[in-house]
Amino acid sequence: MGPGPSNPYPEATEAFTRPMLGHLDPVFLELLDETCDRLRQVWGTENELTLPVSGTGSAGMEAAFVNLVGPGDAVVVGVNGLFGERMCDVAARCGAEVVRVDEPWGQPLIAQHLIEAHPNPKLIAAVHAETSTGVRNDIAAIGALLAEADPQGAAGQRPLLLADCVTSLGGIPVEVDQWGVDVAYAGTQKCLGVAPGLAPFTMNDRATQRRVERPQSWYLDLGMIAQYATTHGARKYHHTAPVAMIISLHAGLGALLDEGIDHAHRRHAECGELLQDGLQAMGLELFAAEGSRLPELTTVWVPDGADDQKVRATLLERYDIEIGGGVGAFAGRVWRIGCMGHTARVANVTLLLAALSEVLGR
Ligand code: PLP
Repeated sequence: MGPGPSNPYPEATEAFTRPMLGHLDPVFLELLDETCDRLRQVWGTENELTLPVSGTGSAGMEAAFVNLVGPGDAVVVGVNGLFGERMCDVAARCGAEVVRVDEPWGQPLIAQHLIEAHPNPKLIAAVHAETSTGVRNDIAAIGALLAEADPQGAAGQRPLLLADCVTSLGGIPVEVDQWGVDVAYAGTQKCLGVAPGLAPFTMNDRATQRRVERPQSWYLDLGMIAQYATTHGARKYHHTAPVAMIISLHAGLGALLDEGIDHAHRRHAECGELLQDGLQAMGLELFAAEGSRLPELTTVWVPDGADDQKVRATLLERYDIEIGGGVGAFAGRVWRIGCMGHTARVANVTLLLAALSEVLGR
């Protein structure tokens, strides 16, 4: 959906127009530290290694895999959409033995299937909010099963749990420490409502201790990045921080914390429910399985007789509303309606429903 009539936190965009701070300026470094602290609150973690990785969500994905996975490591990946597939590709490029656990697109992953897929994988990876299908995968359930099988965790070799939270962080509850997630990454452009360009990232000590010795990426080597990004005091230059992006994220996280994380979740939930009820009242059929539907990303079958591209183009031209098309086998057959970050407002949902109703003649 479009940005709505007003942006409630202009500081996030003003960061790009203000005179630029240097990346070693003490004022910026203080903002960077504060950004990491704010991220800890939003992730629900005490992890020291919590920082914004330079690059979009996919950079977060690569950072997780290249730092933890080496040739021959067994990696179990839950796949029920495009981003689970991408994780398989990234893990395979690290030389992993990839064990894919598929569920049909539109259905959630089943935690037990992931646990049973391999006797002793180094890592189990799943996407929390599958943006390609609008499905929420239950990361807490996977963490609970892992903890049940090996309560010691640190002493044993419990598989590490990796969660892709690109489309969940800020929109639905994410509790890294409580759920037993060892490593997670997100994106800025989804429910955090900031421009794309950073990957909020967090990794606990258990995972940090099991990093590969020499990651195949120099740029994403967390051992080196952490010496710059998370050390309070002495810092070692690694790469030039994307200063304006980080200041923008700092502002976006500030707005989220001012609103209250729980309140932001309720706002997304309310909008998702309103949207999904409204679409069904129009006679449309939702795509994602009931009980696993994301409020921030709604998927709906393109109704018989409607021209996918024409409907989307009309919404954009006439109402300034952008909705996404389906991907993979569902291209042209499904619409993906994002209602996230500061666009998750009842007024936006009302406008979209009215506009779609008019365009479809329903
Ligand atoms: N994972 C999920 C669930 C996503 O939705 C996306 C992007 O939409 C990514 C990973 C990749 O993020 P980016 O496109 O910011 O690199």
